[in-house]
Amino acid sequence: MKLNGTMCINEKGHLEIGGCDTLELAREFGTPLYVLDEMCFRLSCRDYYDAFSIKYGAEVIYAGKTLLNLAVCRMVEEEGLGLDVVSGGELFTALKAGFPAGRIYFHGNNKSSDELAMALQAGIGCFIVDNLFELELLSHLAGEYGQVPAVILRVTPGVDAHTHEYIKTGQIDSKFGLVIETGQALAGVKRALELDNIYFKGLHCHIGSQIFELESYRYAAEVMMAFINQIGEETGCLVAELDLGGGLGVYYTEGDQPRAIQAYADVLAGEVQEKARGYGFQPPKLIVEPGRSISGPSGTTLYTVGAIKDIPGIRKYVAVDGGMADNPRPALYQARYEACLAGKITRPSSEVVSVAGKCCESGDMLIWDIELPVAEPGDILAVSCTGAYNYSMSMNYNRLPRPAMVLVRGGSAELITRRESYEALIMNDLVPERLMKNQSVTKNDH
Ligand SMILES: *Cc1c(COP(=O)(O)O)cnc(C)c1O
Repeated sequence: MKLNGTMCINEKGHLEIGGCDTLELAREFGTPLYVLDEMCFRLSCRDYYDAFSIKYGAEVIYAGKTLLNLAVCRMVEEEGLGLDVVSGGELFTALKAGFPAGRIYFHGNNKSSDELAMALQAGIGCFIVDNLFELELLSHLAGEYGQVPAVILRVTPGVDAHTHEYIKTGQIDSKFGLVIETGQALAGVKRALELDNIYFKGLHCHIGSQIFELESYRYAAEVMMAFINQIGEETGCLVAELDLGGGLGVYYTEGDQPRAIQAYADVLAGEVQEKARGYGFQPPKLIVEPGRSISGPSGTTLYTVGAIKDIPGIRKYVAVDGGMADNPRPALYQARYEACLAGKITRPSSEVVSVAGKCCESGDMLIWDIELPVAEPGDILAVSCTGAYNYSMSMNYNRLPRPAMVLVRGGSAELITRRESYEALIMNDLVPERLMKNQSVTKNDH
């Protein structure tokens, strides 16, 4: 397993994160446990800030959908980044954390009027509008609230980034954005310019996630700059901001070769500046929206090994106390992970096993065919790079409570999300009077 962030092997031969022995974390907080490495998270934010904001005056907006709770909002704010939200729930979290509304960007392809109204009331910085229906709805609501919100229009540049089918979004056949090629994007821009209650500020595209080829990004920037030139020629409007989305790939397993954040910044900013020079207009302000590359490597999940089933000549299953409910990615898109036995990390691998979750689904497998030292019940299995799209995608299938999350740094561990309780699982359940047969069914009046 590759050691991310502050991970190291301590004198006891145990995996340590943020100066905390992971076996002690498991003992103190229980498993499954999300462990967030504060310095790793913050240093990734800083790398982005330095590479984009300091060097190119660009804006860096953290994609909250990858990992969001109150403490994460606080760290993102302290590091000087903006925040992408995609729902009323994420917006609520950000506002409750005291995140400055002006630095919040609201995404999503089907925001409801309630969500738009909530964002208008909060006075968020920018709406990333996905389609014409939303544009008209926002304009109407903004009129009611007497506001003129800043709007960035999401367009699809027709870039087919090399990544998994479900996480590529830049191609023409996509539920996201207005297509440039068909003229729908230009029509959207013209409409935004017409509407009195809309301040058209710029364009957005996001070509996908877990991308390693910087050429895909350069090409997307080229297509967007050509479109900005076309807008200038047809409407006289100089597009002020260009948001090129997120998607930079991270290391999960062998073969993943992440590109340096500075190289990514140089390619994007270089292309935007060069094309602006060529067309003869001021370059738009650049915006990027990294998610996975900030939160992903900062997270590790600790599990306890339980049942071990050896089917001779076929496969050895090592079952852990979590699985698809806390990390749906392997089941959702065959995502691959590395892991180690946190207390046996110095021992050589001696067998190939498959790590199973505890849900009632054959597809609930966390890792197929991984080399580990001999595992025994009670061992702690650490799965790395689970910071992004794990907690945020977690669910209660089989009524499994969501795990707790601890923030580790300099030898101390602080709980930042409590383990969900069984009580919380039934908190919203109600029993109609006629179904209350006897006293053993308690009336729940939360
Ligand atoms: C998901 C998403 C991001 C973040 O993508 P990562 O691959 O996690 O960096 C940024 N912008 C938009 C619009 C997204 O949908």
